[in-house]
Amino acid sequence: MEAILLHNLETILNRITKAAIKCNRNPDEIRLLLATKTVPADRIRMALKAGQTLIGENKVQEIKDKYAGLKDIPHENHFIGHLQTNKIKDILKYSISCIQSLDRLDLALKLNERLLRENKTMEVLIQVNTSGEASKFGIAPDDAIPFIKEVAQLSALRIKGLMTIGLFSAETEKVCPCFRLLKQIQEEARALELPGVEMNELSMGMSGDLETAIEEGATIVRVGTAIFGQRIYPDSYYWNERS
Ligand SMILES: *Cc1c(COP(=O)(O)O)cnc(C)c1O
Repeated sequence: MEAILLHNLETILNRITKAAIKCNRNPDEIRLLLATKTVPADRIRMALKAGQTLIGENKVQEIKDKYAGLKDIPHENHFIGHLQTNKIKDILKYSISCIQSLDRLDLALKLNERLLRENKTMEVLIQVNTSGEASKFGIAPDDAIPFIKEVAQLSALRIKGLMTIGLFSAETEKVCPCFRLLKQIQEEARALELPGVEMNELSMGMSGDLETAIEEGATIVRVGTAIFGQRIYPDSYYWNERS
């Protein structure tokens, strides 16, 4: 299993480098976030040992479950899932360094309040629903700027940029407008020069569309299946594997 994982990781790193070079960007400007939902701690460790430094989880329960298995190995953990307000207290126990999925005011207010009470701060990205799909979380593009202005006033939250999940489509010409829209909102927000707000991060692009995202300015790409899930060998290979 380890050989496959390391092979997949190498493939993704090569894809990132190639995509960056193709659009005259420095590959070092783009961070790989390992989307580790459903992946057990021992497999995450393999990737961290291979030099990876950033993981992202979707559920507070999974962070909790894997915490002991990962805490001795240096890494950064971002939250990329839908955060329920009743989980705020919990999530603050597990050294999450950034919540990438801040998408509504009640969450922002409650998170800020709790952080203030604990004398902490939290980096956040604003999640924007650029695809317009009702099934996707994220603030509507038209509401993004007013929302950023409100969050900017909450002293325990440090806005670092934006996050989006593009349209799930193999067709570049359909995904591309989602990423472009995020970039456009970033530029609009930057122009406001809000005190304390940094707009440097664009977290966009996953296994299937990371090249497009990098071309459109991604600074963080979030990859799961192409590293942990995709089967590069036929099933017979797994049937012979002892686990
Ligand atoms: C699962 C997930 C990813 C990674 O998607 P893959 O297609 O598995 O690479 C990225 N972002 C978020 C928010 C996710 O939940």
